[in-house]
Amino acid sequence: MSYVHQNLQLQSLNLPFGKAVCVGRNYADHAKELNNQIPSKPVLFIKPASCAVSFMPNFKIVQNRGNVHYEAEIAILIGQNLSGKISKNSAQNAILGLGSALDLTLRDEQSSLKKQGLPWELAKSFDNALVLTPFVTELDFFDVNNLAIKFFINNQIKQNGNCLQMLWQILDLIVFIAEHFNLQKGDLILTGTPAGVGILNLGDNLKLELSNFSQNIKLAEFESVVN
Ligand code: ZN
Repeated sequence: MSYVHQNLQLQSLNLPFGKAVCVGRNYADHAKELNNQIPSKPVLFIKPASCAVSFMPNFKIVQNRGNVHYEAEIAILIGQNLSGKISKNSAQNAILGLGSALDLTLRDEQSSLKKQGLPWELAKSFDNALVLTPFVTELDFFDVNNLAIKFFINNQIKQNGNCLQMLWQILDLIVFIAEHFNLQKGDLILTGTPAGVGILNLGDNLKLELSNFSQNIKLAEFESVVN
């Protein structure tokens, strides 16, 4: 099966990139590993464009602020403005590209903020907290209801999730998000992380892999190093 991978950086798509709307606790098994309750509607937070960096060929992580956790996520690039009540069909038509991301999290900081009932920005929106692979825009082989993501550190698999495990499917998420935030051309949606989050260390070799879940076809893979 052909390997679909158009190596496009966000910048080369020449889109304004304002924000990434991120979904927390979209996989029940990840909510459980952090002792969080299963939410009754999507938990959303926003990472501004200012904290985005490229996954490839390498990226830097913040030092001296406690553990930096990876959260590997399927990322959706929105290609048209969306707001208010939209149909799943419009959501589908608005998808311009698919990629993957690490939603980096200062987990110690986040746990302390959570305990105090405070917002998470210090733990989620710091510089370099949004690590993005290139986005694939040739989407013929991609079915957003049938995607899987795998994340490897030093050739060991750490996370392995697929759309069927999501509490809210990707199109439902886009519909829900558009009702609450104007989605603008160039915005991203991070669709939540499966179980297996953990610490990133300097020198780690990383690989993110996207595949079609039911047919087990690898669609794209991206490699990086933490430095
Ligand atoms: Zn996340």
